[in-house]
Amino acid sequence: MRGNKRLWIIALMMVLALVAAACGDDEEDGDTGDDTGGETEETYEAPEGTPMAEWQEEGSVTIGVKFDVPPFGFENPQSGEVEGFDVDMGNYIADRLGVEPEFIEAISDNRIPFLEDGTADLILSTMTITTDRDAEIDFSRPYYVAQGRILVPEGSDIAGIEDLGQGTSVCTAIGSTYEATLTDQAPDAQLDLVDGYSECFELLQNGSVDAVSTDDVILTGMVIQDESLQLVGDPLTTEPYGVGVAEGETEAADFLSETVEMSFDDGTWDEMYEEWVGQHTGEDPQHPSELTLEDAYELFPCDETC
Ligand code: GLU
Repeated sequence: MRGNKRLWIIALMMVLALVAAACGDDEEDGDTGDDTGGETEETYEAPEGTPMAEWQEEGSVTIGVKFDVPPFGFENPQSGEVEGFDVDMGNYIADRLGVEPEFIEAISDNRIPFLEDGTADLILSTMTITTDRDAEIDFSRPYYVAQGRILVPEGSDIAGIEDLGQGTSVCTAIGSTYEATLTDQAPDAQLDLVDGYSECFELLQNGSVDAVSTDDVILTGMVIQDESLQLVGDPLTTEPYGVGVAEGETEAADFLSETVEMSFDDGTWDEMYEEWVGQHTGEDPQHPSELTLEDAYELFPCDETC
């Protein structure tokens, strides 16, 4: 399992390297910034007694990200570092604080427990803001809006959620919003729940499941690695991502919302989008600068599906 995972990550890195080479290297233009897609200008002065002051005192902030979800959070086998859109947003936040980011793996199912028990200070792990989750932790304003989709192999008879009926199987991650979405929208399909999306990818490739369902950006990462896979059907859900902090850390949530907004305003978000999403999808950056946290609750209503 581990060996396979390594292989597909290596394959992905090769594709990314080729695309980067084809697009030229922006950093030769004299920009000495790191890979975060930009740097915040001034170190933030944290009010005393806030989580931000604590992180500054420690000199580091622990950030839970995915390790197997290109292009949002994945391990680069050459450097051993984690990379991706969520990682860059984490770097940007740490940079504003003037501290070192320490990235740890947070799968879908342990994101909230990690904040509750202090394993992570922040979660940046493709996490949708929902009212149910917001009852357990606090969120920043939305920094990205994904959509729920279905991924199938070439030649599949499944053309959308309506085809996930009796006798079909679909994979998603335990603890993701898709546990409820698929139970609700494809009640007759067999639901294969796994810890990480790389497992869904392997199960789809070896024919053990008929489809994978999760956010479009995660599925796009799988298509980059295997172009015979395809996204089908209409979007199932709208998934606004927020940065998570422990429940009651309101000042930290406000700081994070402000930092996310800075990334919209100073062009960093657009650079991150182009590097991790736009160059693969050909779509223009559209940061969710109009969306508030309250709007996010409307985008992913919890009445029936949480
Ligand atoms: N965005 C969805 C969620 O937070 C699915 C992606 C994931 O499992 O990380 O549940």
